[in-house]
Amino acid sequence: MPDTSPPRLVVSGLSRAFGGAPVVDDVSLEVAAGQVTCLLGPSGCGKSTTLRMIAGVDRPDRGSIRIDGRLICDTTTFTPPEARSVGLMFQDFALFPHLTVAQNVAFGLGTDRAARQRRVEELLERVNLSGYGPKHPHQLSGGEQQRVALARALAPRPRVMLMDEPFSGLDNRLRDGIRDTTLEVLKEEGTAVVLVTHEPDEAMRMADEIALMRGGRIVQRGAPYNIYNKPVDKAAAAFFSDIN
Ligand code: ADP
Ligand code: MG
Repeated sequence: MPDTSPPRLVVSGLSRAFGGAPVVDDVSLEVAAGQVTCLLGPSGCGKSTTLRMIAGVDRPDRGSIRIDGRLICDTTTFTPPEARSVGLMFQDFALFPHLTVAQNVAFGLGTDRAARQRRVEELLERVNLSGYGPKHPHQLSGGEQQRVALARALAPRPRVMLMDEPFSGLDNRLRDGIRDTTLEVLKEEGTAVVLVTHEPDEAMRMADEIALMRGGRIVQRGAPYNIYNKPVDKAAAAFFSDIN
């Protein structure tokens, strides 16, 4: 039977201006379960603002957002962030320093103790940190902390995961490994992912689809190698040219 369910996330005609200046201009996206879409573009092009509206921490002037077909935001509807089933991960999204790793991961989970413990163990294993549960964040490296943050964000099984430059604070040498682990875990969980980055090589490595942004608009959308091989214009080609 063909799958007739709606895409996990549908963003349609999203627009936002600050002080009369358009910052996000008619942005539309669909992301399926298990798919990673990268919002890629230079600093200031409106990536974070787009993500913040999907998260529900900012409101669009126009447009709509649906998760699993359910309208969560348009000009008259506004579902608060905690009721959207979105997981968030930002560069500086710190762990709670006074809680253990296990308590951090369990933070957003329900009250069934055995179920919490199972979920925490499952996720720590997925991010290759089995046995780290009793440790405190300060005992972990930056990369390990980032993997705990990923486990914590995924613990409540969000329908959509929103990640804003989550690896940009990390050492270059660590980054590729963490990108791969993150991608593996996201695929196992089957979450729909919107990953914001200004780095073409990160998008090439992680995305199923790239949405290339400039000046608040999506100027090109497609599979990474299609965009890389057939950039829509000279500016897009130049943006990809410093990939290493
Ligand atoms: P990116 O994440 O792609 O670097 P942002 O979405 O953070 O871009 O910002 C896009 C533009 O919108 C920038 O010029 C930024 O200064 C502006 N901007 C973002 N948030 C606000 C705000 N709350 N008030 C005024 N201007 C903002
Ligand atoms: Mg940003």
